[in-house]
Amino acid sequence: MIPDEKPASVLYLNNVSVSFDGFKALNALSIVIAPGELRAIIGPNGAGKTTMMDVITGKTRPDEGEIFFDGHVDLTKRDEAEIAQLGIGRKFQKPTVFESHTVWDNLELALNRDRRVFPTLFYRLSGEDRARIEEILDTVRLGHRRNDLAANLSHGQKQWLEIGMLLAQGPKLLLVDEPVAGMTDAETSETAILLKEIAKTRSVMVVEHDMGFIRDLDVRVTCLAEGSVLAEGSIDFVSSDPQVIENYLGR
Ligand code: ADP
Ligand code: MG
Repeated sequence: MIPDEKPASVLYLNNVSVSFDGFKALNALSIVIAPGELRAIIGPNGAGKTTMMDVITGKTRPDEGEIFFDGHVDLTKRDEAEIAQLGIGRKFQKPTVFESHTVWDNLELALNRDRRVFPTLFYRLSGEDRARIEEILDTVRLGHRRNDLAANLSHGQKQWLEIGMLLAQGPKLLLVDEPVAGMTDAETSETAILLKEIAKTRSVMVVEHDMGFIRDLDVRVTCLAEGSVLAEGSIDFVSSDPQVIENYLGR
């Protein structure tokens, strides 16, 4: 890895290793994400994709290696709360929206989550906040469902709402783990468009198994296996790599 990549990157992992009881879940993993980049991550089960997100977000400490955010912020020295505060948002596989609240209220709660605003009788959402929520509703295709309870959304719409809740926090980097699992085909293709739009204003890293979806994204792809990078490049380049075929696609 060339040292010059560090200052220009939003995320820089160099030689990151993590062991669980002697098993190397990440093995000298190096990966660099550019500002504004949308990167797709593929690879077999157990490749270390989720563990990579765990070390980026501070949930798991790496045994070795460097992790820098925004060129110079050493993430290995920060805890989970600090890393979230720095502007790294993470979407887990299962949606965790507040089912008994409306779509709008979910976004409003997310917007105020780390403010010192205490919603009292006198609390009023500012015009700026309203505009922000409207914008997010548009982005996540839920404008027409704003007054509906989150419980009544489809699975795909719940995933979009959760992405919206992360957007309300204004992350510079969004990590998304298997967003289209369980979505309809229409929701899956819409999610590709949605993530591409989101990546116009921030960096996004998305892990996914659905190769149709990865193809729709049409961005740089990294294939992980056994905790390190097996191949990286365009989807055509990566999917024709004999090692990728042997370890992943051909299975
Ligand atoms: P992926 O998301 O690519 O399917 P994971 O990152 O979840 O892979 O897992 C990589 C490997 O690390 C797997 O063998 C998994 O069992 C192991 N692993 C992940 N997290 C832990 C943990 N907290 N304790 C022990 N083993 C773990
Ligand atoms: Mg995983």
